[in-house]
Amino acid sequence: MAITIEIDHARTRRMAQGQGPSQSPAQGKAPARKPARSPRQPGGPVVPQGVRGPIRRLKWLILMLTLTVYYVTPFIRWNRGPNAPDQAVLLDFAHGKLYLGPAEIWPQDLYLITAAMLLATLILILVNALAGRLWCGFACPQTVWTDLFLLVERLVEGDRRQRLKNLSSPLTAKRVAQIATKHALWMLIALLTGGTLIFYFTDAPELLRDLAHGEMTVTALTWTLVFAGTTYGLAGFAREQVCTFMCPWPRLQGAIWDPEAFTVNYRDYRGEVRMSAKKAAEARALGEPAGDCVDCGACVAVCPIGIDIRQGPNFACINCGLCVDACDGVMARLDRPRGLIDYESWENIERGRAGEPRVSRLLRPKTVGLALASVALAGVIAVSFATKTSAVLSVQHDRDPLSVRLSDGSVRNAYTVKLLNKSSGVQRFKLGVTGVDAALAIVGHAQADAIEVEPDGSETLRVTLTMPEPGDADVTFQAVDARSRVVLTAHDRFVNR
Ligand code: SF4
Ligand code: SF4
Repeated sequence: MAITIEIDHARTRRMAQGQGPSQSPAQGKAPARKPARSPRQPGGPVVPQGVRGPIRRLKWLILMLTLTVYYVTPFIRWNRGPNAPDQAVLLDFAHGKLYLGPAEIWPQDLYLITAAMLLATLILILVNALAGRLWCGFACPQTVWTDLFLLVERLVEGDRRQRLKNLSSPLTAKRVAQIATKHALWMLIALLTGGTLIFYFTDAPELLRDLAHGEMTVTALTWTLVFAGTTYGLAGFAREQVCTFMCPWPRLQGAIWDPEAFTVNYRDYRGEVRMSAKKAAEARALGEPAGDCVDCGACVAVCPIGIDIRQGPNFACINCGLCVDACDGVMARLDRPRGLIDYESWENIERGRAGEPRVSRLLRPKTVGLALASVALAGVIAVSFATKTSAVLSVQHDRDPLSVRLSDGSVRNAYTVKLLNKSSGVQRFKLGVTGVDAALAIVGHAQADAIEVEPDGSETLRVTLTMPEPGDADVTFQAVDARSRVVLTAHDRFVNR
């Protein structure tokens, strides 16, 4: 099922009645339009046809690039010193840390992950404002793996015509062998995909060695099978259903669809009235209107989503451009200009219908604003990363009692001070306090200037402040790193109640 929005109801209605978009009702001699040829067999799967062309080649290139990045990344090493893992990208669940090259993200740095996700969303919305669902059509994992699975299907079972024939043919030994081969290859790819994903959660070469020796843990095996099953199901069977119904992005299109974005659109003012090349020649000879569309159905046959873009903008369209390649191929064979279906803004389709020149409006307040917001947020994230310290100081005031009056009349407050060492080496700190004239003491520590914290560890201290002439005041605890001289601060109160 395709979700279609009608942008121009009157025009759509008129076209549905068999009249071209640029045709007035008075010219109603056009032949009745055939219903759109459905790429989906009734109740069956979408069986897309293979296509050749520059966009298809670009998609193959992106597919190879993204798969290479996915399979190779866990094996890239990154030297972080003796006590840290040397895997460039590692999500270490056991220690609650994410390693991304030089960056080490702790649970305390969650705000950076949140900011990075916000940045990704901003960029996605910006791309959507420029060129629609470009991410979906070219680089989304669902698209990449579905393309890969479709390639296997085509290589094993033949192109669309043969596969459609297979759907209604009885099972023969050859068919059983084809089906078995296809599913075996799909499972192999799914296992490689699932197996690779777990490399991101542990030391990849070590796990690979274990696998080679048949020493896979139950946990690793379970997750490999879970990820492999997900890949097999989503890319082998769910395919376009994921892009249309499971993914939230098409749902959001109703709110963020931009008529100035360069999405895949059909130039109906040029294509209609559609008819065969022969009939078009006859109609033109009689001075009757005839469009460039020969209603060959090639654009529909190649669509991996199973929609007919000639019916108007469609939320389900992933902007993959395969129908552009298909139609350009037809136009080339007919010796007509390319671009009957093209990356073109809906506004320009409307301008074309009105006989106005096309306008490119990539730079508009919305895109400029989104680009500036993205750059600003990227800058904030970069500065936060650059100034991120490798240690954290936190202080918590005792609640009960808040303060204790000593026999000499002075008042003592107690605190729990926590020093967290996020580096891979031992760190030494000198603890002090400013803002009050108070004596600082650490329970169990003779000196406040030699507090050692182990790598990836923390030290919890019981600290007291004693003031001879007490009064409520703000206090600032300071921990000075003995080596880097970086000063960590944490604020609290001294109270006398
Ligand atoms: S209509 Fe064209 S661009 Fe949209 S999903 Fe189908 S083939 Fe891709
Ligand atoms: S491929 Fe081009 S000519 Fe053929 S049906 Fe589609 S729009 Fe018409």
